[in-house]
Amino acid sequence: MNVRVFNRAGALLSLSLLALALPAQAEPLRVVSSFSILNDMVREIGGDKVMASAIVPANGDAHSFEPRPSDAKTLASAQLLVINGLDFEAWLPRLQQSAGYRGPQVVATQGIDALAFEGGHDHAHESGQDHDDGHDHGHDHDHDHDHDHDHDHGHGHGKEQAAEPPHAHSHGSQDPHAWQSLSLAQTYIGNIAQGLSQADPANADYYQRRAQDYAQRAQQLDQSIKSRLQAIPAEQRKVITSHDAFAYLGKEYGITFISLVGVSSQAEPSAREIAQVIEQARRENIHAIFVENTVSPRLVEQVARETGAKVGGTLYSDALGKPGSGADSYLGMMKWNTDKLIEALTP
Ligand SMILES: [Zn+2]
Repeated sequence: MNVRVFNRAGALLSLSLLALALPAQAEPLRVVSSFSILNDMVREIGGDKVMASAIVPANGDAHSFEPRPSDAKTLASAQLLVINGLDFEAWLPRLQQSAGYRGPQVVATQGIDALAFEGGHDHAHESGQDHDDGHDHGHDHDHDHDHDHDHDHGHGHGKEQAAEPPHAHSHGSQDPHAWQSLSLAQTYIGNIAQGLSQADPANADYYQRRAQDYAQRAQQLDQSIKSRLQAIPAEQRKVITSHDAFAYLGKEYGITFISLVGVSSQAEPSAREIAQVIEQARRENIHAIFVENTVSPRLVEQVARETGAKVGGTLYSDALGKPGSGADSYLGMMKWNTDKLIEALTP
């Protein structure tokens, strides 16, 4: 509308161009993500067209998270909500209710063929099976499939595949930690780009362009991780961690992860379950033991002490690290984890 006015005054032409550019930038889209990893993806794809914030912050444990009143305020002001799904955000329905949020929602794992829980020591006492079911139940499975990159569990029907009876604990029967696979991150990126484009169609091209660039960087990192890990003999790729967050990473790159607690970081393993992991570590000569940024290091340190192994450092499981940590972005975190794993697994 101003164009005509400005066009008459030639000296103001550049100002008129500025004015034309303004409307698209005026109001960034307010996007709230459930946790820090998604928030970083939203920032990468949304660029300066979004104002992105996370509910569970860096180094926060989404499994035990309890929303504060300020989180309800943040969510209430959102124009788009991005969540992981697969029952990762158990605290979300109540928060949504108290925030009165009824806006659009992106489920970043939509379309992913989720892994069922296989390991996890918190399942032993609920499965109704004999308690003598062994220290390494579930983990042998991972090992057998070291070189198998296909989803061959026969659950091609997405979310309804779980044929097991429901477990007593609060999380679902599917493993939510799918961001630990860089190839599944492609689905996250696609879903987030689509959600942003639908919520803000004027900038759809911008989001798609940035998503393509981001997806390409994720793919390049994936390739480099694959080739670096291939240099380590498959039988040496065994790692002990706190909670069962790395099944997708393990499947992708042929690493067996043995966890002290189950898929939720909150489970308390029994003394016997800890003893079994220690025994397995000794028997299989496992030296790679890691703490996680979102879980208390107590149990892992106990296992390290009793097996004489050295803790190999911190793996980033369910949250990014603080700014400047090197794991303050999703791709940075995946690279950090790889570097630490390779360091610990290289004899
Ligand atoms: Zn977790």
